[in-house]
Amino acid sequence: MLRRAVAVELEVAKELNKLFYSVETMYLNIVREVAVYAVVNNVLSATLLQRLFYRKYRQEYPGLHAHLIIQAIRQASEIAKSFVKRRMRSLVSKPYPEVRSVSIRFTEKAWSYEQFIRSIAPVRLSLSLLGGRREVWLRLHKRFWLYWWRVLTGEAELRKTLIVKRRANKWYAVFIFEIKPKEGAPQSVVSFDINENTVAVSRIDLPSTVDKVVNWNRQYLTPQLYMIRTDFGRLARRYEAIRNAIIEKLKPRFVLPNGNHVNVTNTREYRKCVKRLRERGRKVGRVRHVANELTKSPSIIITEDLGENPQDEMINGVSKDELRHRIKQIPFKAVERAVEEKALEHGSKLFHVSAYRNSRVCPIHLTRLEETGDWHTLQCPLGHLVDRDYASVTNMFWKLTPEAWAKAFWWDLKSLSKNMNWRKHEGKSNPLVPYEIVKYIHAVLKTLKASFEQSPAVLARGSPMNPARGANEDWARTPPRSKGTPAL
Ligand SMILES: [Zn+2]
Repeated sequence: MLRRAVAVELEVAKELNKLFYSVETMYLNIVREVAVYAVVNNVLSATLLQRLFYRKYRQEYPGLHAHLIIQAIRQASEIAKSFVKRRMRSLVSKPYPEVRSVSIRFTEKAWSYEQFIRSIAPVRLSLSLLGGRREVWLRLHKRFWLYWWRVLTGEAELRKTLIVKRRANKWYAVFIFEIKPKEGAPQSVVSFDINENTVAVSRIDLPSTVDKVVNWNRQYLTPQLYMIRTDFGRLARRYEAIRNAIIEKLKPRFVLPNGNHVNVTNTREYRKCVKRLRERGRKVGRVRHVANELTKSPSIIITEDLGENPQDEMINGVSKDELRHRIKQIPFKAVERAVEEKALEHGSKLFHVSAYRNSRVCPIHLTRLEETGDWHTLQCPLGHLVDRDYASVTNMFWKLTPEAWAKAFWWDLKSLSKNMNWRKHEGKSNPLVPYEIVKYIHAVLKTLKASFEQSPAVLARGSPMNPARGANEDWARTPPRSKGTPAL
């Protein structure tokens, strides 16, 4: 189940604003006091804390809805629990948690949930504030309506608990939608690989019934290759230049009497300037774009198992400082997570294959590729060139097929006995891709191989496999137009 939070601003006039502030103050007091008590006395259970404190706060704040008191106590218990956990890992230095702000939780008893979900187009809600219910109008926007439409069509559900939050002087209602994952027959198999400035994608369209492989129409069988431009590396470089410029500009202001500089990056002025750059925001936008592009239609999505810290592995052996920094800046994990989430939402499934040598093996002959002078181009010992990105995404397809495993093409047997743990890698070739589809992929790859043997000069029909020789990282293609489903 997927969750999406949508914040909607509340229309709050003066009098209502005061009410909200009072409720917030009381709620915050409860959370604070109970959290401190919980940690100091090591009473973390929400039920126990409720037994201890409910009556007290009912008397202290008679106007506050009973359910708000209960929720505040629960929130305190959660905060206390996570504080204790962090303290055990010595991540905190303070003796007890300091709660600075809260989001107020209204259960369905404390707001007009029933009425709200029965409406086709809700524009307001009522909340139990001090001394009864108050109608509050919502400043609704497109994103809310998008999810609301899904509620109406039964694709999503609205959670019963509403969160009310203050940001600066504005009040927001946060609606939580639970989206049911879509199910649909996959229309294509997609593999992708994340590089510094691009994401390489290979796509095999699936005919409507994959078991009729015998009658295929050859022209649809070449895996399409294209690039999605991300420019993560370029972005990192540009921001680094800007950050350096900021440091240079600020330096004169932080000269010590002995002529040295204070480390400018530790100053508040520096952090303020950097915050304004919104580097993260830009990156997040690009990550989402990639995820959307890959999951547009229900697909089987294949990617490498990146491990916990993919950057660290890559950096080993890279000595240039600047390059190390740039690799660090590529949000591998973020892309993977975003794709995983979107995949679920759009009815796609994500599979991982081992990352071992995906870009070091010829996708036609399954032989070990050799370096050429150009980073992007590799040489097959059987006498042709292969583009590195193409090898990588095509080999991910191979790894799903029985051929890769049964015949053990993949592995250099000498190093295998030394370095490889068969079991470990075997487990990662994911056996859960439907067998019919594996058979189909296998047939496509075999066709690719056969067509290459016929005319080795042109790598498997047209440009996709032509190595972009001499091209630098800018090399990017627009996605090919979809050819639709071949007639069978
Ligand atoms: Zn080859």
